[in-house]
Amino acid sequence: MNSKIIIAIDGYSSSGKSTMARRLAKTIGYRYIDSGAMYRAVTLYAMEHGLIKPDGNVDAERLTEMLPEINVDFTLDGDRQFTTLNGRVVEDEIRSLEVSSHVSPVAAIPSVRHALVRMQRAMGEEKGIVMDGRDIGTVVFPQAEMKVFCNASPQKRAERRYEELREKGKDVSFDEVLANVVERDRIDTTRAESPLRCAPDAVKLDNSSMTIEEQNEWLLNLYNSIAGQQA
Ligand code: C5P
Repeated sequence: MNSKIIIAIDGYSSSGKSTMARRLAKTIGYRYIDSGAMYRAVTLYAMEHGLIKPDGNVDAERLTEMLPEINVDFTLDGDRQFTTLNGRVVEDEIRSLEVSSHVSPVAAIPSVRHALVRMQRAMGEEKGIVMDGRDIGTVVFPQAEMKVFCNASPQKRAERRYEELREKGKDVSFDEVLANVVERDRIDTTRAESPLRCAPDAVKLDNSSMTIEEQNEWLLNLYNSIAGQQA
């Protein structure tokens, strides 16, 4: 029997990580965790508690004090997973462009990262988990047996995000979405605390010209070859 492993999928904003990570988890019967949703939920909390000033600055000190009051979790409804913030389902709200435009500064605060990394490690204690994010293979689970690092051109990533938001009926312009993708990349790669990096032992995937089906197949093949070696 195969022993369960940890699968870390990192990469740039809107590089298709979540879609393929979620699918792989479902196919192989693993738990899926969207770590970006956790940073988004903390950001929503900060917005709702007036901790983000009109100029976009985050009151890091107050947010740090309030961290023990913030509980981020996931709940399942059939096949679908929903993010909860202190017991309230916030799946829709955390995907808004407003949350997207404040999340990277919040995610750059060391105390926020430490709290969420602790929760993420606890979720992976029994292995059998697929987690996607920015620092999963480098910081959260450096020992993960399978690591993937995704990228696609900023234009392509913004197109995907734009489609997704439009489908949800959000009134956004393509330029706004592109600017947000580029700005989040900038903050995520240059922050002092666990910046977005490709782990040296990650397998790189540029999915600019791949369909979702092709990405799913690529990931499943990689899993099969790694899981086969672990057996
Ligand atoms: O993956 P998603 O785009 O939803 O993540 C939202 C933001 O959360 C990212 O732009 C990044 O700033 C932050 N993040 C992070 N570390 C992770 C996951 C997300 O810093 N592991």
